[in-house]
Amino acid sequence: EHHRISCEVVGARAAERAVCPPLALHTVLVAMSWTPSSWRSLPKHQMAEWEDKAVAERVFSKLGELPPLVQPKECERLKLLLAECGRGERFIVQGGDCAERFMDCKAGRLEQQLKLILQMGMIIEHLSGKKTLKVCRIAGQYGKPRSKPTEMVEGKEIMSFKGDNINGFDPKDRKWDPERLLLGYWHSAATLNFLRGYASSGEHGPLKTISVEALKASEHFASYSDDAKAIAGKALTPESVEFFTSHEAMQLDLEEALTRLSDGKFYNLSAHMVWIGDRTRQLDCAHIEYFKGIANPIAVKVGPSMKNDELKELVQVLNPKKEQGRLMLITRYGAGKAESMLPGHIEAVKASGVPVVWQCDAVHGNGIVASNKLKTRAAKDIWQEIVEVMAIHKRCGSILGGIHLECSGQSVTEVLGGSVGLTEEMLLKNYETYCDPRMNYDQAIESAFKVGNEMPS
Ligand code: PEP
Ligand code: MN
Repeated sequence: EHHRISCEVVGARAAERAVCPPLALHTVLVAMSWTPSSWRSLPKHQMAEWEDKAVAERVFSKLGELPPLVQPKECERLKLLLAECGRGERFIVQGGDCAERFMDCKAGRLEQQLKLILQMGMIIEHLSGKKTLKVCRIAGQYGKPRSKPTEMVEGKEIMSFKGDNINGFDPKDRKWDPERLLLGYWHSAATLNFLRGYASSGEHGPLKTISVEALKASEHFASYSDDAKAIAGKALTPESVEFFTSHEAMQLDLEEALTRLSDGKFYNLSAHMVWIGDRTRQLDCAHIEYFKGIANPIAVKVGPSMKNDELKELVQVLNPKKEQGRLMLITRYGAGKAESMLPGHIEAVKASGVPVVWQCDAVHGNGIVASNKLKTRAAKDIWQEIVEVMAIHKRCGSILGGIHLECSGQSVTEVLGGSVGLTEEMLLKNYETYCDPRMNYDQAIESAFKVGNEMPS
């Protein structure tokens, strides 16, 4: 009896081998060898390493036992909604901090942040007549890839800040510390607990109150005011307050510890959706390997260095079953650059036959340095990239499924321009970010109006 059962498995494989071309066999073998830790044998980029192995081991064994932050069913629902976005039936607003900070895990700030993303969704929905999907960079966006591992501070070379999960922003606190991963878990759990309660409590008076007062200088101010009034008069639905969490899954030992088996599939249950950064998407490396095996909806950042052939292979590797809503491509080229790259990328994806959801990250290709040395971006570049990318998708017969912005519900002064007229001199007033500059509430709300008005209704 025992012999028969094990032979059945071997027999099934042999039959497959007989009819499958070599590539399909390769896929079968890869699928067979994937485990939540199979990424470990491959080259890794951007990950912190832990000097004190005993501490790290204790941290990971604790993380492996803690309850998941999200449910597999929620991930599956997000996949369904993303599939709608891929078909042009719904539009994604993904946004939040570049790097979340532990110290910002406070009720008022979290409320403002969720409120901003939900309101951006309401605005776009109101103007375009299309439903929206709200995905926050929140409850786990604590790890940052950096262009350089070290930086010079006051003449001394120190480790770069890699996010609150890895080290401290204070130059004296840059040592990589695995205990921070547990702090990251607690902060994610507190954030998510608060936001879920807030969104489902029905106390939503302020949620519908979109503040447009600061946009007085805009030539469209009158219509913005009318739209805000109209939205305030609409009833909230469960969908208007529905949100999902996301972060860049950079630190794979952490992601592995929160990967759990459910119904025969492995899910990363630290967030509904996780993405691969533009610096860690090398085909034969650890991140792609890890992402291959998780059942979540996933995304990949696509920057100017992506080759067409490389993208074609990447989408096949990450979405071999051609599932709708499984894979999002987040392009981030920079204003004026999409024209020379996006059409080729669209062609490559078409040739692969793999369905993807196209999203425009209009911030990461638009970094500049102000005369006072602060990292910033100009609102006009961000808006230009969105308009360009929309036009290219339309022309190429593909669908733009959503936008991706770094933004804060606070009155930060990190991005230039917009109707609030933020100047270089004003940057220092409230420049809070530990990483990339974020649009403030007013600039992000104005972005939503612009996107909604550009979309065909
Ligand atoms: C980010 O989203 O903060 C980021 C680092 O983006 P990218 O990987 O596109 O550079
Ligand atoms: Mn960023």
